[in-house]
Amino acid sequence: MKTFALGGVHPPENKISEKAVTEVLAIPPKVYIPLGQNLGAPAKAVVEKGALVKVGQLIGKGEAFISANVHSSVSGKVAKVDDVIDQSGYKRKAIFIDVAGDDWDESIDRSDNITRDCHLSPEEITQKIKDMGVVGLGGATFPTHVKMMVPSGKKADCLIINGVECEPYLTSDHRLMIEKGEETLVGVTILMKALKVEKAYIGIENNKPDAVENLKNLAKKFKGIEVHALKVKYPQGGEKQLIKAMIGREVPSGKLPIEVGCVVQNVGTAFAVYEAVQKNKPLFERVVTLTGKSVKKPANYLVRIGTPVNNLVEASGGLPEDTGKIVSGGPMMGKALTSLEAPVVKGTSGILIITEKEATRPKMVNCIRCGRCIGVCPMGLEPVLLAQLSAAERWEDLENELVMDCMECGSCHYTCPSGRPLLDYLRLGKNKVGQIIRTRAKK
Ligand code: SF4
Ligand code: SF4
Repeated sequence: MKTFALGGVHPPENKISEKAVTEVLAIPPKVYIPLGQNLGAPAKAVVEKGALVKVGQLIGKGEAFISANVHSSVSGKVAKVDDVIDQSGYKRKAIFIDVAGDDWDESIDRSDNITRDCHLSPEEITQKIKDMGVVGLGGATFPTHVKMMVPSGKKADCLIINGVECEPYLTSDHRLMIEKGEETLVGVTILMKALKVEKAYIGIENNKPDAVENLKNLAKKFKGIEVHALKVKYPQGGEKQLIKAMIGREVPSGKLPIEVGCVVQNVGTAFAVYEAVQKNKPLFERVVTLTGKSVKKPANYLVRIGTPVNNLVEASGGLPEDTGKIVSGGPMMGKALTSLEAPVVKGTSGILIITEKEATRPKMVNCIRCGRCIGVCPMGLEPVLLAQLSAAERWEDLENELVMDCMECGSCHYTCPSGRPLLDYLRLGKNKVGQIIRTRAKK
């Protein structure tokens, strides 16, 4: 069975919600929908206080090249446009809506009929994806329409679909592949048409045999789609690792997958593309896993964007007494939440409630120069050195040592026997170097 070659770790999986069939979460009385839910510039509000909105109505327009539209996930009245503390812990502009009923925009097809044929041209498909505010749902939230625009001089020959879901605990993609397999594959064919490629490869780690079997069976009805089971190894969901595992191509440092003829999309994104193109449905809800060892009811919920995290926690039996930390995402790459009022956004794949015992960090001691962090780095970096440079604020050296190649997978941090907070240093360093690079580009 295939996997990527360089580095990687095997954290315990704990996929305790994998059998929990997706439930529709009740619509909350209030939602806070951030205007910046994508990698790139935030959208600009196109509604004001007092406006009446329907489900699926455009409320934020992505005007920059890298930006995405934002739609209302509920019907009701705009209470205000104000700052909200989002999952990053920072304040961001959001549209606050008081919910009234569940009145959908008439143009959205709400039937369960699966529409397989798509008569739009590649350009029309990309425009539709843009209009509907689709972004990458694997966590990176890069606007999907931008990813579909192959730069001149480059050519895509295959599409790679990421069904790996390698983060321990998370199961939202797993459920989607079982419950919405056919729709997801139609989404894949639409992406293939937009990219003008004949082949798509779907990679799924072998700890989800039911998803592999389901998609393999369904793929027989589609031309050019192959489904492959992959050996379990974290972080196989990284684009570069997945490409290497699936088709053996290596994306050079600082380059994008298109350099080796690939475009990578997540399974959740393929499903969102299906809904956008075939159902005229903007991206205003998604599947979110709510899980943790002490959670009364670990579950997968279909959640309207803007729903406060607290609503998911309450639906699963409330906050366990021994809660040590609440994380958005998985235990490897996720970020701790500062408030349960933070809204679910397009990039929220899961909410993980970590017990006090699990949240206790090992005591940090001196680096023993064991080199384990170097051995597990899937990007071939030297995390111990990068962390030292970051701590010493040597930003230029940090850039030269390719800190921007770090995908923040946390494998180094996970494996360090000295409890060094490597990922914290790396994120700090990437942030600073990223700022320096952006400032330089503007000059
Ligand atoms: S340096 Fe970055 S890419 Fe390498 S293991 Fe650490 S977090 Fe992952
Ligand atoms: S794994 Fe930890 S102790 Fe070992 S070299 Fe890296 S930072 Fe030092």
